[in-house]
Amino acid sequence: MSTIITELDKEYIAGTYKRFPVELVSGKGSLVRGSDGREYIDLGSGIGVTSFGICDSVWTEAVCAQAAKLQHVSNLYYTEPCARLAEMLCRKTGMGKVFFSNSGAEANECAIKFARKYAAEKKGEDCFNIITLENSFHGRTLTTLSATGQEHYHELFRPLTPGFVHVKANDSDGFLKTAAESNPAAVMIECVQGEGGVVPLEPEFVKTVAEYAEKNDVALIVDEVQTGNGRTGRLYSYMHYGIEPDIVSTAKGLAGGLPLGATLVSRKYGNVLGYGDHGSTFGGNPVSCAGALSILGRIDDELLESVRNKSAAVFSMLKGAPGVTDVRGFGLMIGIKTERPAAEVVAECMERGVLCLTAKDRVRLLPALNIPDDLLMKAVKIIIEVCSKVS
Ligand SMILES: *Cc1c(COP(=O)(O)O)cnc(C)c1O
Repeated sequence: MSTIITELDKEYIAGTYKRFPVELVSGKGSLVRGSDGREYIDLGSGIGVTSFGICDSVWTEAVCAQAAKLQHVSNLYYTEPCARLAEMLCRKTGMGKVFFSNSGAEANECAIKFARKYAAEKKGEDCFNIITLENSFHGRTLTTLSATGQEHYHELFRPLTPGFVHVKANDSDGFLKTAAESNPAAVMIECVQGEGGVVPLEPEFVKTVAEYAEKNDVALIVDEVQTGNGRTGRLYSYMHYGIEPDIVSTAKGLAGGLPLGATLVSRKYGNVLGYGDHGSTFGGNPVSCAGALSILGRIDDELLESVRNKSAAVFSMLKGAPGVTDVRGFGLMIGIKTERPAAEVVAECMERGVLCLTAKDRVRLLPALNIPDDLLMKAVKIIIEVCSKVS
């Protein structure tokens, strides 16, 4: 496919993205349309962003109304969507305060600043290390890249931000040993490693980390950028594990398709950052927050239960299907191990009208939380047909 748009993109966009050969122009719900008029079932949601699908009518109305009323004023002034959204996030999680930014990486940067300042004041300025896990993903800014426990992202971008220590996931003894040696300010985990291949952490390990953090007054940061906002069948993935993080970062699906990051902190950390300690020109933008209110307000018990039911249906179709060797994940965050290379499966699914993602060596599904059952089943059948084909 070569059109004026693909040519312009090649000529003028920095070459960081390997795109699929399709130009998407419009959509509704879990159907998205290409410039050639072809329709696709969307199982990627723009990497877990369009929580209620493309141009969901409640979301569109909320966003358009706010855009027509007041699109931006900066954080020098109060605005209603920002305050209401912070209240909703705290009410639904029991956290104490929120800082708004524009992306997952920024939400993590803020989480790290909360943890480092708390530790510096409480334990002294040599308490700054953040323990993160191997195979984790926390973002692309230099500091969140340093937090990310995957060597190949680091190459040629050194020097990295100091103060990050990586440990093996699910190795409690190894974690405790490193923690004892590194005087950490925080531990940061994804309960389900997303970019790492949809890897849920083992409950025992998460419990060990949480107990260590609690006992030693070390901040427990849970990165819920991908797993948050209903994606895993609970509001936040830490809720599967019965832990209480000090700091939670989220973004991707929060505003249903607009840039918005949020860093939630418990009451203990609520007043750690004060005037001038942090900021963001766009953070808490009224249009993004209006979008988020329309999403978060609908992520209730009933919706979460339907996410879990859809998930169970997908798992039961995929488990044991020919060409599928393993399925893992929670809710509508699903990683499929296939006999054929995952990239090949995804490319062929697209040819057959289904958009899905990869994560490491897996096919990854992040469909809209409200994807209609018939569309979901139809798409999964196509994935199974593609997986079962001997190449
Ligand atoms: C996507 C992602 C990020 C980075 O989010 P951006 O909005 O791209 O900065 C951070 N952490 C996790 C777990 C992610 O999945």
